[in-house]
Amino acid sequence: MNRRILLLGPPGSGKGTIAARLETELALPHLSSGHLLRQEVEKGSPAGCRAKTFIDNGELVPDTSVLEVIEPALKGAIANGGFVLDGFPRNRTQAIDLDRWLAEHGIPLERVLLFTGPEDVLAERITGRRTCPECGRVYHGQTVPPKRAGICDLCGIPLVQREDDSEAVVHKRYEIYRRETHPLEQYYRQQDKLAMIPATLPLEGRFSAVVEELTR
Ligand code: AMP
Repeated sequence: MNRRILLLGPPGSGKGTIAARLETELALPHLSSGHLLRQEVEKGSPAGCRAKTFIDNGELVPDTSVLEVIEPALKGAIANGGFVLDGFPRNRTQAIDLDRWLAEHGIPLERVLLFTGPEDVLAERITGRRTCPECGRVYHGQTVPPKRAGICDLCGIPLVQREDDSEAVVHKRYEIYRRETHPLEQYYRQQDKLAMIPATLPLEGRFSAVVEELTR
């Protein structure tokens, strides 16, 4: 069955963590636009070089560069049983592009899960966040600790703090979220695809709420 799930929510709302669990437990491929873009930066590809400054400054990468990276990944995921999309779309133009692209392939988005919670609580989560530079898996010292401190469970390499997880950049990312991404709540509500998940629930509760929504 080809699932097409979108996770929406501000930085720190736990989309990446939930998507990783959906991947390991329900075999749904996790597609993170942020991770794909960071991989391009690592590779030093033209798309990565264009994206780097925007990412480091917490700004949105221009739509055309994002599409260039996300489209082949979407194609691959669809051939592989569907996707859990995280981080894309981030604005109305991207949402319209995604709808158009999926309609062309005859597979409209199925469900959009919006993770919501108080901004100060979610922002605090980001500062404790550590990421695997290889697979992109996200950990947190208190809430999602790795089995060995500071080491990715899957890749066995040291975790890092992303540059754009610093306090000043996080502040800017929230501003952009409010202005550009938050209006998508209304966009998907009008399509009758939106379900709300409390981002402040403990991980197990959040994951159960997500699975319940997806099996409705
Ligand atoms: P994330 O890992 O989703 O928090 O994304 C990290 C950074 O990658 C963002 O702050 C943006 O600079 C960039 N980015 C990720 N997804 C998108 C997108 N859909 N549109 C524009 N920029 C993006």
